Amino acid sequence: MKQIICVQCGQSLVVHFGQYREYLRCSGYPQCDITQCLFDGMPIGVQADKPLRTQRKLGHQKFNAVKQHYGMTTQETYAWLAGRLRLSIDLCHFGLFSKELCQEAVHILQDELEEQK
Ligand SMILES: [Zn+2]
Repeated sequence: MKQIICVQCGQSLVVHFGQYREYLRCSGYPQCDITQCLFDGMPIGVQADKPLRTQRKLGHQKFNAVKQHYGMTTQETYAWLAGRLRLSIDLCHFGLFSKELCQEAVHILQDELEEQK
C-alpha cells in the first residue's frame, strides 16, 4: 500500500487493528488522532478527526432509526440516502463522508424522522 500522509500533521498513517475492524491511524497518535477507513486494504473516504467521527456516529444513529422505522435493510437505507444526497450508492457510507456531507445527511435523516411524529 502506498504511503498515506496525515492531513493534519504530515506523518504517515499506519494500519491499526481496532475492536471491530482495521483502519488507518496517524503514527503521531495520541498527539494526533486522525483516522481513515479501510476497505479491502485500501484507504477510502475523507480522513477524520474526533469531531468528524462524533458527527459520523450521530449520523449513524439517525440512519439506524430511519432504517428501523421503515423496516429497510442497510443497503436499502443507503440507497435511499444516496438518492437524497445525489451520490452514487458506492460512495454513500458514513465512513466516507466529509464534514459537510455528514451534516447534510444528518439533516435529511432528522427531517425524515420528524415527519413521522
Ligand atoms: Zn497526524
